[in-house]
Amino acid sequence: MQGYFIFMISNIDQIKAAANIADIISPHIKLKKHGHNLVGICPFHSEKTPSFTVTEAKGIYKCFGCGKSGDAIQFLIDHENLNYIQAIKFIAEKYNIPIEEEKKTYEQPAQRLEKLQPDTIKYFEGRGISNNTLLRFNITETTEWMPKSNADTRAICFNYFKDSQLVNIKFRAKDKDFKLAKNAELIFYNLDSLQDETTAIIVEGEIDCLSMYEAGFYNVVSVPNGAGTGNQQLKYLDNCWQYFDDKEKIIIFTDNDEPGKNLKEELARRLGKDRCMFVDYPDGCKDANDVLLKHGKGMITSMVEQARR
Ligand code: ZN
Repeated sequence: MQGYFIFMISNIDQIKAAANIADIISPHIKLKKHGHNLVGICPFHSEKTPSFTVTEAKGIYKCFGCGKSGDAIQFLIDHENLNYIQAIKFIAEKYNIPIEEEKKTYEQPAQRLEKLQPDTIKYFEGRGISNNTLLRFNITETTEWMPKSNADTRAICFNYFKDSQLVNIKFRAKDKDFKLAKNAELIFYNLDSLQDETTAIIVEGEIDCLSMYEAGFYNVVSVPNGAGTGNQQLKYLDNCWQYFDDKEKIIIFTDNDEPGKNLKEELARRLGKDRCMFVDYPDGCKDANDVLLKHGKGMITSMVEQARR
């Protein structure tokens, strides 16, 4: 097993908490008191009467003219053309907060190259996934100790690549028995597909990602650990932010249930609401794979085409 490390800012939360939104915005826009808020002429659309509203207590701005909204970081990204990390560094400097860097060490998992067994290929066929797609995504199989069955079990390997390097593996056995490789970097599945694209689509699971490919969309990534429950940490987003930096449009295609909706909200908040679009599911469908199976590729295409803010 090979190790490698990357540097990450470990006190991002402390830096974010220090930012006063009026401090950040007022050098760029003249703000006037208006009740509990501050208002000014919106820098994002052309207007004569101020509809750009800053709520200091909540640390947010919102324009009632064009709908642009966000926090201090989002303002720096949208108005000053900084990326996420540059915005964090700008705030740290402004408030004299030393940046703490943490060296994160990850292990590169050993490759599992066993070919898929006929019954696995059949399983995928049943989910509408062709052999061609399985090959394209380098899906393999292995025998691995799995947590739920607490035994060595046959498991499908969803291989996670970053810059063509294998950095993680999601092992998936029967009955929702799955795990990620130990001490491996948490990233989006199919991350490399976002390079040189202006649009990204985010789904909730690997099979949804494969379903999107079946429908002709390749610039699709899936979150590595589903929608989860409770607070959304989105550690994988911290590891991958630079892949989203240059995206003009991000279509969020998470599951059609409560956790999926919460994940959608959190992803949009972190990635910037202005460039995020959302899909409407047909009745009775829970995820992209379900849509593929019940309505076919055409329905996925029209959901993407009709994605809206
Ligand atoms: Zn505006």
